[in-house]
Amino acid sequence: MNILRPRVILLLLFLSLTALAARTERLIDKWQPQHYLVNITLNDQLTEISSASARIYVRILKPTRVIDLDFGELTIDRVTLNSKPLEFTHKDGLLLVTLSEDAKPGDEVSLTVDYHGKPKDGLILTKDKDGNPSAVGDNWPNRVHHWIPTLDHPAAKATITFNVTAPAGQEVVANGRLDHVETTASGYRTWTYSESVPIPPYCMIIAVGQFAKVEPVERAVTPLSYYVPLSERDLALKGFSPGGPVVDYFANTVAPYPYEKLALIVGATRFGGMENSSAIVFTSNLFTRAAAPPIDMSKKFGVPSNNLNVIAHEIAHQWFGDSVTESTWSDLWLSEGFATYFAALFVQRSEGEDAFRVSMNNASLAVFAYEKKKLVPIFDRDTENLMDLLNANNYQKGAWVLHMLRSQLGDEAFFRGIRDYYTTHKNSTASSEDLRSALEKASGKNLRAFFARWVYDSGHPQYELAWYWLGKREVRLVLTQRQPGNIFVDPVPVTISTATGKREIVLKPTGKLFIERVPLRQKPTSIEVDSRNVLLDETTVKGN
Ligand SMILES: [Zn+2]
Repeated sequence: MNILRPRVILLLLFLSLTALAARTERLIDKWQPQHYLVNITLNDQLTEISSASARIYVRILKPTRVIDLDFGELTIDRVTLNSKPLEFTHKDGLLLVTLSEDAKPGDEVSLTVDYHGKPKDGLILTKDKDGNPSAVGDNWPNRVHHWIPTLDHPAAKATITFNVTAPAGQEVVANGRLDHVETTASGYRTWTYSESVPIPPYCMIIAVGQFAKVEPVERAVTPLSYYVPLSERDLALKGFSPGGPVVDYFANTVAPYPYEKLALIVGATRFGGMENSSAIVFTSNLFTRAAAPPIDMSKKFGVPSNNLNVIAHEIAHQWFGDSVTESTWSDLWLSEGFATYFAALFVQRSEGEDAFRVSMNNASLAVFAYEKKKLVPIFDRDTENLMDLLNANNYQKGAWVLHMLRSQLGDEAFFRGIRDYYTTHKNSTASSEDLRSALEKASGKNLRAFFARWVYDSGHPQYELAWYWLGKREVRLVLTQRQPGNIFVDPVPVTISTATGKREIVLKPTGKLFIERVPLRQKPTSIEVDSRNVLLDETTVKGN
């Protein structure tokens, strides 16, 4: 997902980290959803769900009598198993269904929940910018249970089929392949979409409205279509023009595109973009928000650079986040850090090296600003409010972790490791440790210390390099690490310039104070640290 605007971050006063209780996440221990069959009928004006039924195909993992679903405030008409009514209680966002007998591990049961009403959240019922009614799912992080009974945790991935019945004038798009459209009762049509591979609940979506559907002329590696408000029909082709090249680039760099099609939708979302599997929703002002100059424009696509970035980011999520899903919220950087970095890689490819440098530089500034307010690890087990995880740690610092790994392992091993990580965990979940082991396998390097410092610990190196020319054909380099907390052992590239040329050396710090003597014929004219910007560091250099 892409954050719409900078969030105001409250300054939190931490007495100590240990005073915070670890966040509790839903575990997938008693039962696991396999498939959802969701039938939704919307009323004439798309202001409520007139009727719905969700059949949840469940595999039992531990002996149990009760299936505890997450479900919001909609009115439940009945819960059944093989058409027989089951007892249930529904309160505080939980639907507890009591089976008629104990279920054993390995059993498969399919519960059907019939319900109706106006969802409080998750399915956004609103007018589009032309004033036409629309209904658009927007579920991150755990808001899908306001309109579909689910196990609402990203790791509880399942396949899904939607039968959406809406007035005949409406266009409907949802996850996966469009199987068929049938005209039903007077003036209504039912659209059937099936997603055949498991997706996280926050990526389950329907989008209903008076969309103009536009298809690009050039074919991409997957069927690509754009759904925009009628008044933006003429803006869609150019506005979404990066879409096809982005899909093709990631398909070549990572692995084949994971889903049956890709719809790019302009509609209701509280984010700048939301990466629903195969049906991405972008903020309704995507094509107009950047109308006021000065705007940094993409040279290649003629769209604002911000838009290129958000389109590449959400499409990158189809592989990272949607197909390979974070196994816990602490691993969110495997979704957001990857989407941020792979969007930057597309920028590097399409806009050039300078644009890439600018984007990585901006990312470091965002991290430094964030860490001044809150110094916690990327792997954050404490933050309770999941929206607060949409921060510079998971996005920009996550991207930097990948950039540093790429620099330290080399392109060949890095991308081989990423492809292996993707292939091993596609349509499933992954942890930070899974990424570490894939990159270790690809590179033959032990990355325990790197992950311990960059992912499971907080902060970034604040180097101070002092150099002394002692007139004895050597320069003495004193590298001090000023950041609070532990040492960073990452190799530090140093460029020594003299009147006759440049020399590159690499310091391998073993302590927060590290001294190296470098034989040199002439006095340096300047010394630079990390000139190729391969470290997320803040550095000052002083010399005599
Ligand atoms: Zn994202």
